[in-house]
Amino acid sequence: MGRRKRVSIFVLIDALGWEFLKDREFLPGILKYRRRVPTILGFSSGVIPSILTGTKPQVHGHWNLFYLNPEGSPFKWTRPMAVLPKGVINARVIRKGIHLISRKVSRYGGYFHIYGVPSEFLHFFDICEKRDIYSPGGINGTRSIFDLFMEMEVDYRSFSYHQYSDADIFKAVKEDIATHARRCYFLYLCELDSVLHRHCADEAFVERSIAWYEKEIEALFEAARARYGDVELYVFSDHGMTRTTGTYDLKGEIDVLGFAVPKDYLVLYDSTMARFWFFSDDARESITGRLKELDCGHILDDGELKDLGVYFPDRRFGEVIFLMKPGCLINPSHMGNKAPSGMHGFHPDDDASHASLLATNDCGEVEDVTGFFTLMQNAVD
Ligand SMILES: [Zn+2]
Repeated sequence: MGRRKRVSIFVLIDALGWEFLKDREFLPGILKYRRRVPTILGFSSGVIPSILTGTKPQVHGHWNLFYLNPEGSPFKWTRPMAVLPKGVINARVIRKGIHLISRKVSRYGGYFHIYGVPSEFLHFFDICEKRDIYSPGGINGTRSIFDLFMEMEVDYRSFSYHQYSDADIFKAVKEDIATHARRCYFLYLCELDSVLHRHCADEAFVERSIAWYEKEIEALFEAARARYGDVELYVFSDHGMTRTTGTYDLKGEIDVLGFAVPKDYLVLYDSTMARFWFFSDDARESITGRLKELDCGHILDDGELKDLGVYFPDRRFGEVIFLMKPGCLINPSHMGNKAPSGMHGFHPDDDASHASLLATNDCGEVEDVTGFFTLMQNAVD
């Protein structure tokens, strides 16, 4: 095979925030364009679909993993078991539930445990990510970059944790470059996220981890250079990682008010935010009143939800959403009982929340991470 004309390579590295790169070079000879890019409120389950569709969660419908949908819940089968003693139902549901869900959300790397959500309440909830979002048709009702590649008949390949580890993705892409002549590649690398959750306070560890990605991406770039006349490389992230500076027992604070779950209300404690649905006016008034008195966070009003692009008029993601202050984690939460050393999912204005964009060529202004969609679209157009 002769030398090919042009290839575009898009590398999405989960949690590689601007704070980790702003004082550090990253392939300076190759990635000359670099900038800080604001993220979208929420976790990767909401941010990555925003990158892949160029729209906000209130448009594409993917936000936090769990949302209220008793009728359509994939956990409906657990409803008759809700009357069983807690230990029994948890043991049984956990085994089957983990199997059911882990294939879909394994990129949480074991951090987002299904068993964090009490099994007896699972049947009230649905999950927004049911398909492989890195394939065409992966986002509910909104066209993603992969749908667009299909329509445009772009010869591309997408790689993610669904098939490979990060190290294997680099290997597989290099092999593919050596044997094919594609127009573009999309790589989603998820493993830095769990490293940063655990070690974000350990600078040497973080540096070693980032250096590994730098080395692998350089090798990938060189492999592409050997085969293509023109290589466009884009490295970007979905969000950053904020160091944990404190924790707050929000659940304890709400529990003492004495209302019953699920009779009076339902709640999901997502480590940076608590989401409530109410079935009694007393519970709504009392819990909302208590939340307003707390200074560890604040209730997001409709205006703020709209500005952040996460306003859902049917309140499926929460009737009242309480967002913690950057660095302060809800602990215990339904994401775990031990606060990790770093977390994301705080307000996008928080400095440590910002995502990064590094590229071989000038990308102009990028308002937030939804702009990565346009960059990818323009690159192959
Ligand atoms: Zn994470």
